[in-house]
Amino acid sequence: MATAPTYDLIIIGGGLSGGLLALACQRAHPERRILMIEGRPALGGNHLWSFLDTDIDAGDRPLLEPLISYGWRQAHVIFPAYQRMIGSQLYGVRSDRFDAVLRDTLPPESIMTGKTVIDAGPTWVEMESGTRIEAKGVVDARGGADLTLLDPGWRKFVGYELQLAGPHSVRHARIIDAGVEVQEEGLSYCTLLPIEKDTLFIEEVRYGRDPTLNVPGYAKRIFNLAARFGWKILDSARGQAGVIPITTGGDFEAYWNSGGPGVAKVGVRAALFHPVTGASLPDAARTARMIAEMRDWSGEALHRTLHAHAAKIWGRRDYYRRFARALLDENALAEQYKPLEVLYTKEPATIARFHNMRLTMMDRIALSLGDGPMPLSAALKG
Ligand SMILES: Cc1cc2nc3c(=O)[nH]c(=O)nc-3n(C[C@H](O)[C@H](O)[C@H](O)COP(=O)(O)OP(=O)(O)OC[C@H]3O[C@@H](n4cnc5c(N)ncnc54)[C@H](O)[C@@H]3O)c2cc1C
Repeated sequence: MATAPTYDLIIIGGGLSGGLLALACQRAHPERRILMIEGRPALGGNHLWSFLDTDIDAGDRPLLEPLISYGWRQAHVIFPAYQRMIGSQLYGVRSDRFDAVLRDTLPPESIMTGKTVIDAGPTWVEMESGTRIEAKGVVDARGGADLTLLDPGWRKFVGYELQLAGPHSVRHARIIDAGVEVQEEGLSYCTLLPIEKDTLFIEEVRYGRDPTLNVPGYAKRIFNLAARFGWKILDSARGQAGVIPITTGGDFEAYWNSGGPGVAKVGVRAALFHPVTGASLPDAARTARMIAEMRDWSGEALHRTLHAHAAKIWGRRDYYRRFARALLDENALAEQYKPLEVLYTKEPATIARFHNMRLTMMDRIALSLGDGPMPLSAALKG
């Protein structure tokens, strides 16, 4: 007689998409046995994830609300010739809170940290120790697979939470401050998030085809910026750095299979991220709810559903991949910021639809005027 698998669901990776999936599934089905396996000691790594309120579907908010560490009523953008509030609120999720909420919500036996998965199939995982663990279904949330298959560009950043000797003057979240940057090496900007009256998170962001991250160079620009504003820094111990993919084309099926054919996937591993910004949080929340609402968590059903979902989403995002190509390749380096500058001159609703990837044809036409990302003929395609 065949023995029942030990778990209903194994989630490989306790990062953003795996953690959200575990939370959603635990809440929807506390009676089911879930195991999340994370290679590092902490869940979520070392991140400050942010999202705009308009990025998130109403049904996904209850999942995210307990995770929110910070909220900013206004998001501000600054370009060389233009600045404004964009009309959306910004929220921040710190990974230490993410870890704490997951550990409060899931039973301890559902979380395995510091253990590495070396191979996986639709209903099993093999651990580095040689142990094989069986489940009705497996979802792989290990982050990027073979990203070279997605014609990648890179959004590279280094950020520090700066404890200052006195109050700063930043009142709103500045999601893009390209007013202080010399745009000679391609699109670059700072993000400034006021945390307390004397604490600021500042991040230096660059876009490019080369994934090399020059941490000392970016850090120097952050400290120079602080000096220019006269901010005396008492502490800068907390920071984050990342090189995240954006995509300008590629082969979705080849990418999906490069992460393990026949195995269900979420997050960056499923190519579920914004082609221009690299943000994956809204997609991760959506897929977490989708899976939590499924009655059948068999490996076959999970793979069929998630593959169909990710393939459909990939097909709908060609415009945004062309937008990313325009940012990276189609302007002189010093002018790469211009498509974004044009975007942020539009109505708040258009800006929100760009971020949540629901631009209408009218939006695309309006965006292709002036220094927009692409000519009208390209904007109307697909
Ligand atoms: C510093 C940083 C900040 C970011 N900020 C934002 C943001 O503000 N908003 C946004 O939407 N996006 C942001 N992104 C982009 C993207 O959303 C994140 O990279 C997000 O964490 C991707 O989620 P994921 O679940 O696909 O991968 P990850 O969060 O990277 O999770 C993958 C997990 O799998 C684990 N793992 C990998 N291999 C194994 C293995 N063999 N065995 C066991 N565990 C394994 C890893 O340790 C990791 O914890 C940011 C990225 C970075 C790097």
